[in-house]
Amino acid sequence: MESKLQAIRGMNDLLAGELPYWQRIEAAARELFADYGYREMRVPLVEHAELFKRSIGEHTDIVEKEMYTFDDRGGDRLSLRPEATAGLVRAAIEHGLLHNQKQRLWTAGPMFRHERPQQGRYRQFHQIDCEAFGFPGPDIDAELIQVSARLWRKLGLEGLSLSVNSLGTPESRRRYRAVLVDYLEARREALDADSRRRLEGNPLRILDSKNPALHELIAGAPRLQDHLDDDSRRHFDRFLELLAASGIAAAVDPTLVRGLDYYTRTVFEWRTTALGAQDAVCSGGRYDGLVEQLGGEPTPAIGWALGMERIVALMRVAGAAAAEATPAVYLVLSGERAELAGLALAERLRDALPGRGVVANMEGGSFKTQLKRADKSGASVALIVGDDEAARGVAAVKWLRTGAPQQEWNWDELSPRLAAALETDEASGTNDGR
Ligand code: ATP
Ligand code: MG
Repeated sequence: MESKLQAIRGMNDLLAGELPYWQRIEAAARELFADYGYREMRVPLVEHAELFKRSIGEHTDIVEKEMYTFDDRGGDRLSLRPEATAGLVRAAIEHGLLHNQKQRLWTAGPMFRHERPQQGRYRQFHQIDCEAFGFPGPDIDAELIQVSARLWRKLGLEGLSLSVNSLGTPESRRRYRAVLVDYLEARREALDADSRRRLEGNPLRILDSKNPALHELIAGAPRLQDHLDDDSRRHFDRFLELLAASGIAAAVDPTLVRGLDYYTRTVFEWRTTALGAQDAVCSGGRYDGLVEQLGGEPTPAIGWALGMERIVALMRVAGAAAAEATPAVYLVLSGERAELAGLALAERLRDALPGRGVVANMEGGSFKTQLKRADKSGASVALIVGDDEAARGVAAVKWLRTGAPQQEWNWDELSPRLAAALETDEASGTNDGR
């Protein structure tokens, strides 16, 4: 027997039953971005590998070992996008969106990283991502945090905590890096293999190590906060002030360095304690040098990305029910004549009840079978049409969730009566399927 084909490890099918969570998050985000004046943009899933190397950085985990990179048939070296910012920046430069302009943008979609799949960590995962270009001051940093905080409120998510830090400018970071390397070199024996490897390429990442054996060593390391340049210090202090004035609690975490090279000054991460090891649900920061680095005019910029899978998991933990959309009407059709008239009748009902859901029975079946299907569909009402009803142009109206007695309505009055009845039905809360 041939073996069955299966999905690639770490790449998930999202079945209809769980989509309501996703749709709820996406709808909330879409509305939220409109409220703050962020506009949606979409960029390709595939870019030149070079783009990610030059933006995210050669010595990052993502570029070193997590990217899906391949040569296409034309011999171009391409990568599946591991994150959204690089592509957005590339597109913004390419289309002249940053020329003396400020931009508030957002995007959403799948990202790809060849990581070890585990709970909350996948090889295809999804992000919602927002970015602001052309704003140098700390007020936009605070606004971006407000956007995320409001999203948690909209989704009813509690208990997320915000960690913030400043990475300073590339110059102050370089100075700090030298101090940090001195400290770590002196303790080389105590480092693990991963950290020793990072010591040359990306020593700041050692601060982010999840190895408990290194906690003490990291806690005692010199702090980036103590090596900030004056402008970055002022920027950071003002950012903290603005957060406080917005009523958003934030903890300064001096070990928060983030895994991408392009960050400058403000970095932040929303964390949860509800999901085990995968505790980051949304992270981001300022990347004032990236646009220029990728060939654009110098443009300050900042953004964040949230992990959809982790937000969905949080909503499950919080007990938010996935309210699956159920049709309002199920059309039971029994007999040659009824079936012949049925599809047209269903269309008329859909014209009159847009967005409500009218499911017509297909492939026959006894009344009993069809009524069972109607019940299972979650519909509020079954319209029953047999050959006799079809001949008379009527339907038996059977309310499935209430004890209301069955009635007979003419096809001509069906639409308005149904519309009115469904409204009261919903207002009285008897339709708990929605
Ligand atoms: P982590 O520390 O968990 O690896 P990260 O720093 O690599 O996260 P970012 O690159 O900043 O994450 O991506 C933003 C968000 O995307 C993260 O906060 C997380 O919620 C989510 N995310 C990142 N990688 C994955 C993945 N492999 N699977 C699922 N979600 C992910
Ligand atoms: Mg990661």
